[in-house]
Amino acid sequence: MSTFDIIVIGGGHNGLTAATMLAKRGKRVLLLEKQGQLGGLAAAGILHDTSLVRASIVKALGLEKHGLELLGSRVPAVLLGKEGQELLITGNHKETAERIAVFSENDAAAYLKLRAFLDKVTPLLSGLMNEVPPNVNNLGMKEVWSLGKKALSLKMLGNATMLEFLRIAPMCVADYLNEWFETDFLKAGLAAPALYGSFTGPWSAGSNLNFLLYECLAGEEVQGGALALIAALEKAAGSYGVEVRTNSEVSEIVIENGAAIGVRVDGKLLIANTIMSSCSPKQTMLEWITPAEVSFDTEMQLNVLRSRGTTAIVNMTFDQPVRFKTGEKQAGVYRTGNSFDEMEKAFDNSKYREYSVHPLLEFRVSDDNKTLNIMTHYAPFDLETGWNEKAKAGLLENVSRELSLYTDQQARVLHSEVISPKDMEERFGIPGGHIYHAEHAIDQLITRPFPSFMQYKTSIPGLYQCGSGAHPGGGLTCAPGYLAASTL
Ligand SMILES: Cc1cc2nc3c(=O)[nH]c(=O)nc-3n(C[C@H](O)[C@H](O)[C@H](O)COP(=O)(O)OP(=O)(O)OC[C@H]3O[C@@H](n4cnc5c(N)ncnc54)[C@H](O)[C@@H]3O)c2cc1C
Repeated sequence: MSTFDIIVIGGGHNGLTAATMLAKRGKRVLLLEKQGQLGGLAAAGILHDTSLVRASIVKALGLEKHGLELLGSRVPAVLLGKEGQELLITGNHKETAERIAVFSENDAAAYLKLRAFLDKVTPLLSGLMNEVPPNVNNLGMKEVWSLGKKALSLKMLGNATMLEFLRIAPMCVADYLNEWFETDFLKAGLAAPALYGSFTGPWSAGSNLNFLLYECLAGEEVQGGALALIAALEKAAGSYGVEVRTNSEVSEIVIENGAAIGVRVDGKLLIANTIMSSCSPKQTMLEWITPAEVSFDTEMQLNVLRSRGTTAIVNMTFDQPVRFKTGEKQAGVYRTGNSFDEMEKAFDNSKYREYSVHPLLEFRVSDDNKTLNIMTHYAPFDLETGWNEKAKAGLLENVSRELSLYTDQQARVLHSEVISPKDMEERFGIPGGHIYHAEHAIDQLITRPFPSFMQYKTSIPGLYQCGSGAHPGGGLTCAPGYLAASTL
């Protein structure tokens, strides 16, 4: 007899969200996490922009009661230019436009017009990304109704906005932003989040969809960042009676008569009616299930799911506070990029399995100004030379050189660390070390991860997915976990 209704594999933010929602509905839930701590990729903490966490899910889980506070606006971003420019982008569009006007009056006016357009398409994107997608494999009345509602919300934009949305969604972000702006480092800094974690340069088709998604869905930052979110989720899970076991690594999903009946941890079988995995679809299906239980078709689709990581983390601690050439430190996250040409060249390296000579950086600075935590693009998982010490030293050198364009180099490095996508694969078990478990490309976003696995199902009855590899994708949103739980 099973002790649990549901076993959730993985204690990242999506596993925690799904487990909590299910326990709130009265289910007996066991959550298994292989590491000694909860949080998964979000435990990288300081690096995270938490603006994509859905306020509606925070409310549904009662996270405020457990200490979570939303700050009312998105994470401020400081765009840096190589000629000493600095521009603060915040959720206050009017003030941001005033700051843009220092560089270009035309761009300031364009920024406000672009924001007005984005406001119009936000309800559509929000509906698409915050609801369970219709199952296109089995078009019953419910699915037809859901598709009809989505078509209606497109039509509700009005003809002009609808046609404009259909024109721009599949574009590349460079072409789109070139239509609006003339200042290079502004365009580059706005485009950067659309490229993070993707095998995409600014001239890659479809990159504009990621720009639209970030700009329309970035809401309120979490006070205390990713670690505060995880702490609140852990408390909420406890309050609804989720049994959490850390240091519990699942080695097998046990299948009987074609259906999932439990998991194996330390050789012991744990039984439940339903198994929900917040780990990547590839890991779940190809590593933990006896191959004979996975059909050839499913295996093919999993093998072609693109999940080649392109992001490395570089941490650097200096012997004295780092000073910016532009002046005082700003709150928020710093972005480099400078121009589309430079970003595309940085991407070019990764196409040929090299790390970027001039990497694209997004970084945060510690309170004492001595430590920089840097998301570094592009650092391909399958580096031609392999991620050996020489390769890591080479990437670190490139990052230092790039940083020196923006910072005062009198400070000496006391400590540095490079965490490659290969390290992330080993540490967190994500195939390809991809920070979103699988590429955010149009084809892998519309039916995520692929058509036969839609609506959080897998090819195995009783086995579901609830992590970043499922709709609506990666990033700190809590959405896959919440939506997956709502389908049970
Ligand atoms: C450095 C970095 C910076 C990022 N920055 C941002 C950002 O600014 N904004 C943003 O929105 N997103 C960002 N992301 C992406 C975001 O962190 C992830 O998309 C998200 O946290 C994934 O959550 P998840 O719950 O779906 O999966 P995960 O966090 O990967 O959770 C899966 C969990 O499963 C566990 N697990 C694996 N194997 C087993 C096993 N055999 N048994 C039991 N448990 C297992 C893992 O240890 C892990 O805890 C960043 C990621 C990284 C790495």
